[in-house]
Amino acid sequence: MSASPDAFREISAEVGFSGDPLDRLSDRRDDAEFVDGLRAYPAARSLVIARDMPVLKVRGEAFDPWFAMDEVGKLGQARETVLLGRRAGGPVFATLLDDAASRIEEVPADNTYLDRRVIVIPGRGDVRVTDLRSLTMRGAFDRPTTAMLAGAKSLLYWHARHRFCSVCGAPSTLAAAGWRRECQACKAAHFPRTDPVVIMLAVDGDRCLLGRQPRFPKGMYSALAGFLEPGETIEEAVRREIKEEAGIDCGKIDFVASQPWPFPSSLMIGCLAKAISVEATVDRTELEDARWFTRAEARSMLEGKHPDGLTAPQPLAIAHHLLRAWALA
Ligand SMILES: [Zn+2]
Repeated sequence: MSASPDAFREISAEVGFSGDPLDRLSDRRDDAEFVDGLRAYPAARSLVIARDMPVLKVRGEAFDPWFAMDEVGKLGQARETVLLGRRAGGPVFATLLDDAASRIEEVPADNTYLDRRVIVIPGRGDVRVTDLRSLTMRGAFDRPTTAMLAGAKSLLYWHARHRFCSVCGAPSTLAAAGWRRECQACKAAHFPRTDPVVIMLAVDGDRCLLGRQPRFPKGMYSALAGFLEPGETIEEAVRREIKEEAGIDCGKIDFVASQPWPFPSSLMIGCLAKAISVEATVDRTELEDARWFTRAEARSMLEGKHPDGLTAPQPLAIAHHLLRAWALA
């Protein structure tokens, strides 16, 4: 891409799961005739989700996530179908299969960091059901496809867990091509949720603070993170989380990048926080360890060359890009 006078580097465009290429057609979602027309296009395709995981056609060593609309019905009963939008190739839908269409064969004991459940569509040896995080770490799909799968997974996760009205308890129904649910009993409308999470590096001159949770891969340190709570600004949430988890006070907060995170439906908000105290007191209920790392150490971790074998998160994670933006600044 050639640089234009107003070219800028947007770190959010480099994190995993960003880069959704779709025209979301948000002003047409309530037009049922229009949406039905899109569904009938020969070029219409659907992504398919079974129990929070993409369903994929096996193509030798590779996977194909796209199903023609009539192929979706052959996988089993669909619970919900949503319109994600339109791309150059045609309309894009996403379908959530009813749980009865798939079977959980195995739930491994280490099912925490990656979703390693073995799920099958009975009688369909030609398709595979696989965790999106594992697929993305392997680089199974290009950026736009990965972003569309992430959007489909988050939106369908919301539908799967909001089948009843949270006001009156009556069953709710899908509306606006999947971007709203409505309760016929009390007329309440419900909208898909995105949960904000702050993720940040406390920085003290040439050092930054990283921590590790017990469930992390051995030797990996990452940025601290936590859910933003009702009534908080992003800055307040960043300062509170660092204080709670590491006992460090911070002043000025700078936004660096954001990331849609489909596990299940968060928006990660990446920040740098200027530390104004440096004595770390680690909350051992949340973290196994937290400590200061020099810029040189951070660089060696990003390059996989740390003398003690310590590592940084993979490029899929915003924490990788946050650390890189600081370490290479
Ligand atoms: Zn209701």
